[in-house]
Amino acid sequence: MVADKASDSPNEKNDKLDVLKSTQTVVQHALDRLGYPEEVFELLKEPIRMMTVRIPVRMDDDSIKIFTGYRAQHNDAVGPTKGGVRFHPNVSEKEVKALSIWMSLKAGIMDLPYGGGKGGIVCDPREMSFRELEGLSRGYVRAISQIVGPTKDIPAPDVFTNPQIMAWMMDEYSRIDEFNNPGFITGKPIVLGGSHGRESATAKGVTICIDEAVKKKGIQVKGARVVIQGFGNAGSFLAKFLHDAGAKVVGISDAYGGLYDPEGLDIDYLLDRRDSFGTVTKLFNDRISNDELLELECDILVPAAVENQITEENAHKINASIIIEAANGPTTLEATKILSDRGILLVPDVLASAGGVTVSYFEWVQNNQGYYWSEEEIEEKLHKVMVKAFNSVYNTAQIRKVDMRLAAYMVGVRKMAEAARFRGWV
Ligand code: GLU
Repeated sequence: MVADKASDSPNEKNDKLDVLKSTQTVVQHALDRLGYPEEVFELLKEPIRMMTVRIPVRMDDDSIKIFTGYRAQHNDAVGPTKGGVRFHPNVSEKEVKALSIWMSLKAGIMDLPYGGGKGGIVCDPREMSFRELEGLSRGYVRAISQIVGPTKDIPAPDVFTNPQIMAWMMDEYSRIDEFNNPGFITGKPIVLGGSHGRESATAKGVTICIDEAVKKKGIQVKGARVVIQGFGNAGSFLAKFLHDAGAKVVGISDAYGGLYDPEGLDIDYLLDRRDSFGTVTKLFNDRISNDELLELECDILVPAAVENQITEENAHKINASIIIEAANGPTTLEATKILSDRGILLVPDVLASAGGVTVSYFEWVQNNQGYYWSEEEIEEKLHKVMVKAFNSVYNTAQIRKVDMRLAAYMVGVRKMAEAARFRGWV
């Protein structure tokens, strides 16, 4: 049968939602534009190291459950690899690989001395007890201990992992390593060498990008209508910051649906009622769907949940003038093109969500020097790095006449490509 040209075959559709493939496509374009030969892409298109582990955990009912975990190290030409560990049922090898490449790009854009890394465990922490999560966290560190460390690869939080999980992981690593080593992991509780401002850092970085983006569009945060998809670490802190800055947060959502109020939602009340996994909408009867949420009329739309939320199916229906990607990979490449053609200013994930890894870098520096900075110092440092990064991506997009995603990849990949060449690898 001849495929209908107007609609994609299942394979084409899968390709478009394949985050690794689309990341590779943009990396290749970026390297082409920068004038690097093909072998640089051949090196950077996959992680240099990928470990798959099986983690046995004794569950509360005394049974043993075996979990699958991954750690991807994209490239260490610039420095040790760095990136979070995700606990989620949808974690896959491909996703972890793509996420590790995104971490490299974030480090490049923010000019941090790292390459990208990422980890993930296929599990549903919402259905696990505290003790089971501790067993899983410790088991993961034992399984990957040979390839991680403060000068090799530094883990951090990501979706459904938090400071408590970082604390268990650090403790396990310190036992294996036989000395107290806070620089092994970032996103720790403050009493264990964590940094001020780390928990809210991703959202802080997003607000700095919003401040810069509204200037370009000639609008103001005060009074702007904002829609935020996702009420986890990034989404919830962001809702609070924007609400406090006088924006009208008209829509928010979690995995179970969305809430909408054209007059602005009561953010403090919602924050008070949310659980530790960012769930809050279940408490309300008049929910809208996540699809409806994305199409709401607003000035600023912030996808702060998971991948592939804005696709060619709904990109035409987006009603925002600015999109800031607080999540990793929320917009497909086809949708990116549609949105740019429509004149919507899209601030891509590798820039907008890089506040987290930047404050993680500050945490690691503080651990290495044993001297700690105040919250004000952290904020000031983050602000400086973020504004510089935003403008270097924005200016690249203007000068090279490319969309913001390609511009961000060009800025992000350059240092790594350069470092790999100096080392004589390519
Ligand atoms: N998981 C976060 C990210 O995707 C932060 C990583 C880090 O702090 O190293 O950017």
